[in-house]
Amino acid sequence: EASSAWGEVDAYIADRLIGADADLDSALAANAAAGLPAIDVSPPQGKLLHLLARSIGAKRILEVGALGGYSTIWLARALPEGGRLVTLELEQKHADVAAVNLARAGLASRVEIRVGAALDTLPKLAAESAGPFDFAFIDADKPNNANYFAWALKLARPGSLIIVDNVVREGSVLAGMDADAAGARALFEAIAAEPRVTATAIQTVGSKGWDGFAIAIVNG
Ligand code: SAM
Repeated sequence: EASSAWGEVDAYIADRLIGADADLDSALAANAAAGLPAIDVSPPQGKLLHLLARSIGAKRILEVGALGGYSTIWLARALPEGGRLVTLELEQKHADVAAVNLARAGLASRVEIRVGAALDTLPKLAAESAGPFDFAFIDADKPNNANYFAWALKLARPGSLIIVDNVVREGSVLAGMDADAAGARALFEAIAAEPRVTATAIQTVGSKGWDGFAIAIVNG
């Protein structure tokens, strides 16, 4: 079965290039113990986000959808001294687990978790002039992907990267009837119609199945 080979190769990649990581392993264990769904990014994907944020020297990072903070840890570790990450999370319980995981990882001082629906907290960030964010990672409720993309763009600067997770959905982006598939298509339409970004999407396979990321850079 292809998907089990995908998982085995992910394990190989993680073994060779990532290794045991006490804070990340503890975060996943704490998420499971708290009953959070295991819908975090995979270790190789988390490290990809980290590499991308580091490659542009991101000092301010925005995340939409924290869950237990697994991707948040990867991204916050990419920040230089004085860097800041704001992550937006609907569920208080998820935010509480994430706060403990981030504190254990020594990242509490550079991460702010804002609890609430992101469509409420994003306008507040804009009103506070909290941006510009150099890097945005969108990974929350998928029907709102195009809305989150519009906010990330509003809070960005030329050269910012905006990454959106789960845009392929085992191919259901093409004709899936569910709201998440429709959300993925709406995101592609929004990006296609947006002259201020240059973008692509990459299909991925691995321990989390067949999916993909959209990646956009804000034009200068
Ligand atoms: N980024 C995380 C990681 O890789 O470790 C996984 C995030 S999980 C796929 C999606 C998260 O988005 C959940 O924790 C969910 O509670 C949150 N969420 C759902 N609707 C939301 C909303 N309207 N505003 C903010 N967060 C939301």
